[in-house]
Amino acid sequence: MAERVLVLGGGVAGLLAARRHARRGALVTVLEPGRRWGGRVSPHELAGLTLDAGAESFATRGGIVLDVARELGLEADVVAPEPRPAWVVAPDAAYPLPRTGWLGIPTRPLDPEVRRVIGLGPAVAAALERSKGLDDVPDDVTVGALVRSRLGAAVADRLVAPVLQGVYSRPLDDLPLAAIDPSLPAQLRDAGSLTALAERRRRLAPAGSAVLGIRGGIWRLTAALAEAAAGAGARLVPGTGADAVARVDGAWHVSAGGGTLVADTLVVALPQPAAHALLPGLPEPPGGVDRRVALVTLVLDAPELDEAPRGTGVLAIGGVTRAKALTHATAKWAWLREAAHGRHVVRLSYAVTPGEDVSGFALADASRLLGVPLHAGQVVATHAVEWADAAPARVADTRPEEGLELVGSAAGLTGLAAIVGAEARAEA
Ligand SMILES: Cc1cc2nc3c(=O)[nH]c(=O)nc-3n(C[C@H](O)[C@H](O)[C@H](O)COP(=O)(O)OP(=O)(O)OC[C@H]3O[C@@H](n4cnc5c(N)ncnc54)[C@H](O)[C@@H]3O)c2cc1C
Repeated sequence: MAERVLVLGGGVAGLLAARRHARRGALVTVLEPGRRWGGRVSPHELAGLTLDAGAESFATRGGIVLDVARELGLEADVVAPEPRPAWVVAPDAAYPLPRTGWLGIPTRPLDPEVRRVIGLGPAVAAALERSKGLDDVPDDVTVGALVRSRLGAAVADRLVAPVLQGVYSRPLDDLPLAAIDPSLPAQLRDAGSLTALAERRRRLAPAGSAVLGIRGGIWRLTAALAEAAAGAGARLVPGTGADAVARVDGAWHVSAGGGTLVADTLVVALPQPAAHALLPGLPEPPGGVDRRVALVTLVLDAPELDEAPRGTGVLAIGGVTRAKALTHATAKWAWLREAAHGRHVVRLSYAVTPGEDVSGFALADASRLLGVPLHAGQVVATHAVEWADAAPARVADTRPEEGLELVGSAAGLTGLAAIVGAEARAEA
């Protein structure tokens, strides 16, 4: 009998795994409590626009997501964001992020755009980092300790923290370098300085934009992936989540929708908190698992924003607003600007506790971060959505036992490039 594979979760990771197992002839079922496929890569409708409810772009790193888009027939609709900078807004300053950096680490600290942000003295000190000997780099070194000691507090606080806090939702001093990529401590030892490492990593990045989108929204990728998984023979079951999981005589028994499904292989493609609730035996990743992000989208009638006063968006630091970041979506994506017919779409993200309503902050936060007074009469529509597990922690072993596979955020991966990359390795 063909192997029975049960995939829990219909986000990008679950759909990719379902397609892989179906292609090699397994009997695949995918359970998803939502009515739509895609998880954090899915759409919502607001003021007549179809918008991404979560992720809105993918990293071009490795060309891996682009390959999948190509395979799914979406290549012609892959688009680059508008070439505008992202800004940082701090309590005492607002500045565009220098473009010549890696994770915010400037490769050319003496460039005017860097000096303007951190000042001449700190820029000179940072420029000398390359010639400082590199002491032993412990594998658990934090980004905060490393950047502060080698490049100074101004680089850490003004350039690196804004870039990383948006992705990892924790202070630099709690963020191990290895959490970004387990090979980075070794790469740093090899490069001999942080500046040299940043330079190498930038050289590895493909020319052009670091991220890309899809005309109409990145949710089209998971919509097409769901079709491809079904086309390969997977049975997709929406509106049905797993309620309990048990191991019985070497098989997996999963209670769902009032019945029990039995499988030889269980693929866990859930947000980490949901994965731990169902399988309490999973090793707890370092740093805990219950972080949440709320995304508030505003559609605005605000011609003041036509000139994109803060480029494609803003990283907020130093508690300047309750929001931690803002994306000016209609300044970032030409297709959306056309679709919005002169209106503006702005997305604000917030670190929240479960169920916390932050939509009341959004208009004032948008005003502050965009540097433009906005009033309630300009709000055409508001939408708020909360996502669990915005920044999962890396899991050491993604196959902790026979017949059990952790993928996507259950494996501690964040972002399409990381998830699709891991899938490509699994497929190989
Ligand atoms: C606001 C936001 C913006 C982001 N922006 C970007 C971006 O621009 N670019 C980028 O690359 N990444 C971005 N990310 C990260 C990216 O979206 C995620 O890393 C990725 O989508 C996670 O995919 P996944 O399949 O692992 O998990 P999910 O997409 O969360 O899928 C998990 C699925 O499991 C389902 N589920 C939950 N409980 C059960 C259950 N009991 N049984 C069965 N199924 C269940 C859920 O409904 C969900 O559909 C963003 C994330 C957020 C939250």
